[in-house]
Amino acid sequence: MTWREQVREQVDAWRRDGVFTPRSDSWLTGYDEDFSRRLGARGWIGLTWRGRGFLDRFVLTEELLRAGAPVAAHWIADRQIGPAVARLGSAKLKAGLLPGIEAGEVRFCLGMSEPDAGSDLASVRTRARRTDGGWLLEGQKVWSSHAHRATHAYVLARTSTEEHKHQGLTEFVLDMTSPGVTARQIPDLRGPGHFCEVFLDDVFVPDWAVLGTVGDGWRQVTGQLAFERGGPERVLSTYPLLALTMAAAGPADAGRVGELVARLTALRRLGKQVAARMDGGEAPIGPAATLKMLGNRFEVDVIEAARAVPGVPRAAIDEALLASPGFSLRGGTTEVLGVVIAREAMGAVA
Ligand SMILES: Cc1cc2nc3c(=O)[nH]c(=O)nc-3n(C[C@H](O)[C@H](O)[C@H](O)COP(=O)(O)OP(=O)(O)OC[C@H]3O[C@@H](n4cnc5c(N)ncnc54)[C@H](O)[C@@H]3O)c2cc1C
Repeated sequence: MTWREQVREQVDAWRRDGVFTPRSDSWLTGYDEDFSRRLGARGWIGLTWRGRGFLDRFVLTEELLRAGAPVAAHWIADRQIGPAVARLGSAKLKAGLLPGIEAGEVRFCLGMSEPDAGSDLASVRTRARRTDGGWLLEGQKVWSSHAHRATHAYVLARTSTEEHKHQGLTEFVLDMTSPGVTARQIPDLRGPGHFCEVFLDDVFVPDWAVLGTVGDGWRQVTGQLAFERGGPERVLSTYPLLALTMAAAGPADAGRVGELVARLTALRRLGKQVAARMDGGEAPIGPAATLKMLGNRFEVDVIEAARAVPGVPRAAIDEALLASPGFSLRGGTTEVLGVVIAREAMGAVA
């Protein structure tokens, strides 16, 4: 049995047994800590640093998203913080975090964006001041998904202000139960959900919880964005709706649905290329941005097709529609991805 067949058989069995109910956008809004522990018990979290690699994770995540499984609780840790800790973390950080991530017990939120720093991440104002044995973090993060129930946060903060704004940034990992951390939910179109703001009031972070090199945060985070942008979740957020649309489609809808399937095939090829390059040790920033830009367009076009095909369940369309405003914003807006792609192309020409 191939790896894909093994995963598909198990995930389909869980769905049939009612372990989860398929939904669109399950990697962000399908939050189920027990399901994450279930994957952890099978050894299916942390493949990329446990000797399996990004292509194997690509297959696993495709199958989970295809089924609309609730993977949000461990997603950030599995996708980008675990690999970063494995690569850049101190021995103590690795020993303290990786086993918990692999078990589905350690759940991360991302503290990148701030009220005045979104696309322009180098404008972050959260400050880290030196203190005995570590750092004191002071500032505010916003849009941090699931921060109110995360065990840990990744925080990008400024450790010095003297240089150009792309310098003097540092990445930290902090325990959400540390004194001085407050997470508050922000309602979205659906009411209270994943969005949060996080306030940091002189939060102590020990030296061993600095990720990588002090002051090198910009270079590190831009590399990590390839991991954040280059996965199948940037294409498959509405796959459960596409499956329902294909099931309901009649001969009159063949052109509309066929075009989506052809686009999906091309996007999957690109996704596999990105994963293969990550397995080769690269951070393919431009190809990952391309995948996200084209993938987000595809995810929205699936909803439009579903609306045009009679018989697709209204609730499934509504669920995808309410999630869709975030597709082209989260992880970098379409316009910013265009800038990233153009810059890389110009560099290649120069
Ligand atoms: C569903 C969702 C989940 C999220 N989860 C997280 C999370 O967990 N952690 C986290 O830290 N953040 C998270 N974010 C925040 C996300 O990263 C930011 O929304 C995104 O980076 C854009 O920043 P902004 O909202 O401040 O918009 P701005 O940066 O203010 O941009 C406003 C507009 O200006 C355009 N623009 C900006 N700069 C340029 C440019 N150079 N060229 C052309 N156009 C430009 C943008 O495209 C956009 O249309 C999430 C967002 C969403 C929607």
